[in-house]
Amino acid sequence: MVNLDFSVYTAYNANIDAIARLRQEVIQNVINEFDPRDVLERIEVYPREISEPLDFVARLVHALKLGKPMEVPLVNEKLNAWFDEKFRYEERLGGQAGIIANVLAGLRIKKIIAYTPFLPRRLANLFKENVLYPVVEDGRLKLKPIREAYRKGDPLKVNRIFEFREGMKIKLGDEMIRVPASGRFIVSARFESISRIETRDELRPYLRDIAREIDGAILSGYQGLRMKYSDGKDANYYLRKAKEDIMAFKDEGVKVHVEFASIQDRKLRKKVITNIFPLVDSVGMDEAEIAQILSVLGYRDLADRIFTYNRLEDSILGGMIILDELNFDMLQVHTMYYVMLITHRNNPLTEEELVKILEFGTTLGAARAYLGDINRPEDYEIGLKVPFNERGEYVKLRFEEAKSKLRMREYKIAVVPTRLVKEPVLTVGLGDTISTGVFLAYLEFLRKKFLTG
Ligand code: AMP
Repeated sequence: MVNLDFSVYTAYNANIDAIARLRQEVIQNVINEFDPRDVLERIEVYPREISEPLDFVARLVHALKLGKPMEVPLVNEKLNAWFDEKFRYEERLGGQAGIIANVLAGLRIKKIIAYTPFLPRRLANLFKENVLYPVVEDGRLKLKPIREAYRKGDPLKVNRIFEFREGMKIKLGDEMIRVPASGRFIVSARFESISRIETRDELRPYLRDIAREIDGAILSGYQGLRMKYSDGKDANYYLRKAKEDIMAFKDEGVKVHVEFASIQDRKLRKKVITNIFPLVDSVGMDEAEIAQILSVLGYRDLADRIFTYNRLEDSILGGMIILDELNFDMLQVHTMYYVMLITHRNNPLTEEELVKILEFGTTLGAARAYLGDINRPEDYEIGLKVPFNERGEYVKLRFEEAKSKLRMREYKIAVVPTRLVKEPVLTVGLGDTISTGVFLAYLEFLRKKFLTG
């Protein structure tokens, strides 16, 4: 267990996750309402947004066939009623900043400040009670318990998460689909009212005061931006503000981590990575996101290889390229079977320390997968009982092989197999949990290094 004597700020995205644990019969009934030919046709079209129920069914069936996690934005607010009628949900706190805040709150770190531009009451109540929210009162910054800081009338964002299990059997026309792996299909709300990812103007002058209270900041949610808004503002406007936020933290010596999430729009994706990544210390992402980023940086072949084969060697190469092109300090990658850190050669930490950091991250992730939530620092210990996955030795072998093939001299790279829980209580937010653990351990190892010289 690492020392948890840190204060961390987390922003900008939190929402309600409405989780539907799909049962075979329920999916089957919904699918049966459609002509299988229409579904197949729509799968071919591969809609990037959901504007009618058939878009949803097509993308869901596609996700079930591959057994891969997917996310598709909902653009038609009216469909909420259809979704409410067809499925039963359980509500949890979602959004990276929200999930990360509650993991940190469960670990009882020194101080945890969470910020989202919208804080309706239903959302505020899903945060753990020791999470603080920054407000300005009488011209001064005040950190209030988040549950007391809600604002009436703020917009509410609800994402729907459909969890499916390995081995489920679904019939589509004559075809029998067996779901090859457990996963989830996310229908995310993307309406304009909740797309202004920013620090509100009244709080912005106080960011430096916040910065002096914290050791690290974990920022995420840029995927919620739009290229254009109806009032004439655009992504450039919000990214300029986002950069100023980061600079306020950096000027006060705060370590800044960005947790990346997939962005469908290539233009927006490129803007986010080229504006934000060069300013921060570390970035976390999964394998598919490495490929997404490489693709807009012009490395299409490598991106396609990663998408298609998921080979460790390609991910390492891709990671080194991203680190160089966007020039930040540390890249963290989490995949099903391994977690990885890549830094430049001159990073103060050793590769052995990077391994320890990764072990902390995957252990914390496993604890949350097993328990469903982190409520006390001791919950971490459960993760230590979860074995490293059965492909662990294979991963190590592949890593050794990659070392002999790739030129890695300019980098420090560590790869650690993940601890995988056989029947996880939940799968949402595990990547965020791993990243949170990795970031905390990173802060801790840096502090040790500089305290002991
Ligand atoms: P994400 O999809 O970004 O939330 O991240 C998923 C990550 O969670 C994967 O990279 C795995 O490392 C981890 N993970 C997925 N399933 C499990 C499981 N059953 N037990 C522990 N960790 C898991």
